[in-house]
Order: sequence, then structure tokens, then C-alpha cells
Amino acid sequence: MPHKTYEKEDILIHWESELCIHSGNCVNNLGSVFKPRETPWIQTEHADKESIIEAVERCPSGALRWSNKTE
Ligand code: SF4
Repeated sequence: MPHKTYEKEDILIHWESELCIHSGNCVNNLGSVFKPRETPWIQTEHADKESIIEAVERCPSGALRWSNKTE
């Protein structure tokens, strides 16, 4: 399964494209970071870590997850 990882400070954002159900939650919650029409589509430099975590946790499908880099 395609799996991409993006970094923000001491966390990683994990992206499993095949799990995405295109709910749009990520784009609607934090459009400055989640930009499906751009490359890379997740641009972690545009928001703080807490906002990114909050948006990732609202992904209903599990396509977006986050973890600490040390895990
Ligand atoms: S919130 Fe999750 S399921 Fe919805 S579009 Fe974003 S990645 Fe896909």
C-alpha cells in the first residue's frame, strides 16, 4: 500500500492514499496544509504542530495518522 510520510518538528504525518474516502475533512479543517492539487499535497510549514494534529485526528478513514518521530 502506498505510504508517504511528512515531517513537522518532532512528529510524523502518515498518509495511506488507498484508505482515503475523500470526505474533505482535512482540506476543510486546515486548507493551508492539505492541498490536494499541489505537490507535495501536505505542506506542514503552513500551520503549527497542534493544528496539524487536530486536523489529522479528524480524518474519518485512517488515511491520515500521526506519530512521534521516536516511536
Ligand atoms: S480527511 Fe482523511 S479521508 Fe477525508 S479527504 Fe482527508 S485524508 Fe481523505
